[in-house]
Amino acid sequence: MFEKVLIANRGEIALRIQRACRELGLKTVAIHSEADADARHVRLADEALCIGPAAPGLSYLNRSAILLAAHVSGAQAVHPGYGFLSENADFAEQVEAAGMSFIGPEPESIRIMGDKVAAKRAMRAAGVPCVPGPDSGLPDDAASILKIGEDIGYPVIVKAAGGGGGRGMRVVKSANELLDAVNVTREEARRAFGKPELYIEKFLGHPRHVEIQVLCDTHGNALWLGSRDCSLQRRHQKLLEEAPAPGIDPELIRQVGERCVQACQQIRYRGAGTFEFLFENGQFYFIEMNTRLQVEHPVTEMTSGIDIVREQLRIAQGQRLSLQQADIVTRGHALECRINAEDPFTFLPSPGRVSTWELPGGNGVRVDSHLSAGAQVPPYYDSLIGKIITHGASRAEALGRMRVALAEMRVEGIKTNVELHRAILGDDGFCAGGVDIHHLERWLAAGRTA
Ligand code: ADP
Repeated sequence: MFEKVLIANRGEIALRIQRACRELGLKTVAIHSEADADARHVRLADEALCIGPAAPGLSYLNRSAILLAAHVSGAQAVHPGYGFLSENADFAEQVEAAGMSFIGPEPESIRIMGDKVAAKRAMRAAGVPCVPGPDSGLPDDAASILKIGEDIGYPVIVKAAGGGGGRGMRVVKSANELLDAVNVTREEARRAFGKPELYIEKFLGHPRHVEIQVLCDTHGNALWLGSRDCSLQRRHQKLLEEAPAPGIDPELIRQVGERCVQACQQIRYRGAGTFEFLFENGQFYFIEMNTRLQVEHPVTEMTSGIDIVREQLRIAQGQRLSLQQADIVTRGHALECRINAEDPFTFLPSPGRVSTWELPGGNGVRVDSHLSAGAQVPPYYDSLIGKIITHGASRAEALGRMRVALAEMRVEGIKTNVELHRAILGDDGFCAGGVDIHHLERWLAAGRTA
C-alpha cells in the first residue's frame, strides 16, 4: 500500500490526479519544468521538484530525472497521466524495477497495445469486432500485398503498426495506387516510429468514433463504464466529447462492452483503459486500445458516478473494484468541451499571460483546469488549458447547460477556442447527434454556418 504518489505530468491532469490522491489521504509529489515553477499543480502539491528546463524532452519526458525525483522524494508510486510517458512501456518497467507501483497496466500490456497489429490480433482472438483485414503484418512481395487489397476490397487504408497521433496512415482507392502507398508509408513508419511494419484494413468512409471505458483490478474483476462519442475531431484531434454515444441501441453497446471486459480478462489487463472503435452502419470496429487515463474521462465520471482516477489509485494499491457490473447505472448525458489556448479561426497556438479568467458554474457544470488569472500559458506544451463538462438528465439539458457555461466563460490575455465551441453548439447537425468523424472539418470548410 503506497502513501506517496509522484505525478509525472503537468496542467489540468496533474491537478486532477492530485485531487484524487488528496481525497484518499495520499501525499503528492509534483514534478515540473523550469517553465512551470509557478504552476498550480506545483503550488498545491505536498512536495515539488524541478526536473529540468522547459523543453519536454529535458523535463516531462526525461525518464532518469523523473525516476531520480521519485527516489529523492520517497514516492512509492508514479501516476503518468496522459500523453508524455503514459504509454511508454520502458518507463513503466523502470518504475516497477525501482520498486514503485506504476499506476497503469503492466508494461507488457502497454507494449502489446502499442503495436496495432498485435493489439488487433489479441482483440480478434477475444471476440472483439475489428475492421476487416488481416491481423498480421504486411508481407514484402508485391503479389501478396495486392492479393490482400483485393480480398479486403477498395478503398483500404495502409497503417503503420507502430503509428500514433493520427500519423503513418494512407488511404488507397484502387489497386494501382497500393504498392506506391505501401512504399511511402513504410519509409515514413521507419523514420517516424523506428518500425517499418505495416498492415492494411478496410477504409470506412463515414464512421463515428465511439469508445468504451474499462476498469480492471488485479483480482480478475473487470468493468465497462458505458460509451463515449468523440467524433468531433479536427486533424484527428478530439475537440468535444460526450457520454453516452447518442442514438446507438444500448443493447448493442452492452454487447460490445461485455466483449471488451472479456478481452481485458484474457489479456489480464490492469487499471483503466479505453477501447476505441469506429462505428458505421450499425456496427462496431475496433481500431486501438489506449492503456491510460484519457482527456475525456470526466464525461464517463459524470454519467456513471465513478471517480476513475480514484479507482486507478485503488487498483494500483491492490484493492478490489468496489462495484460489480450490475451496480453500474449510467444516468443522463454529459458533454465536454476542450478549451485550448489557440486562435479560434486559424488554430495557431496562443501562449501568453492570462489577464482575465472567469469560469462558469452552476448546476451540472464541472470545470477541470489548472489556470487562474495572472497565470502564464507556456509555449512548449499542448495547448489544452481546461475542460468544461456539463451533465443533464437528457442530452438536450446537457447541451443547454453547456451553452450557458460557454456564454459565462471569459478569458482575456490569450486567445481561446471558446468562441468555436459556442458556434458548434449552434450547429444543427451536431445538435441532432450522431455526426461522423468528418463532420467538424466539413462544417469548418463550409464556413462554420450553423
Ligand atoms: P492513432 O493511433 O494514430 O490515433 P488510429 O488507428 O486510432 O491511429 O486512427 C486514427 C484515426 O484515423 C481514426 O480516429 C480515424 O479517423 C482514422 N482511421 C483509422 N483507421 C481507419 C479505417 N479503417 N477507416 C477509416 N478511418 C480510419
